[in-house]
Amino acid sequence: MAGEPQADCLFCKIIAKEIPATVVRESETTLAFRDINPQAPTHVLVIPKVHHPDAASLAAAEPQIAADVLREAGEIAFEEGVAESGYRIVFNTGSGAGQTVFHAHAHVLGGRGLNWPPG
Ligand code: C5P
Repeated sequence: MAGEPQADCLFCKIIAKEIPATVVRESETTLAFRDINPQAPTHVLVIPKVHHPDAASLAAAEPQIAADVLREAGEIAFEEGVAESGYRIVFNTGSGAGQTVFHAHAHVLGGRGLNWPPG
């Protein structure tokens, strides 16, 4: 059923504490942890505790939780000290755009110059 934990999902396993992660923030509906392969001095992932394969399907099914993910991303940028210099919230969507884990997640990237257009 939509939103239910998936047995083969890496991020559902992190939420269930079956796989370790360096957690930086947690709310009733979200978990945020440091990316194991950081692409910037600050690189934190914010995930909803419910399982949806990408950000758009999360927003369609549970818009309040999608808003919670964005709120947490903003709080993390502030706490990490990158809010003032600028940061990026990225939702890779689809394998052609680099999505490798099909559980919705926001990348919060900051602490270095971020070029546009992105790679
Ligand atoms: O957008 P994409 O699906 O590629 O992002 C998945 C991210 O999850 C990657 O940046 C990867 O480094 C991260 N990851 C992680 N901890 C794991 C497995 C993957 O932080 N155990």
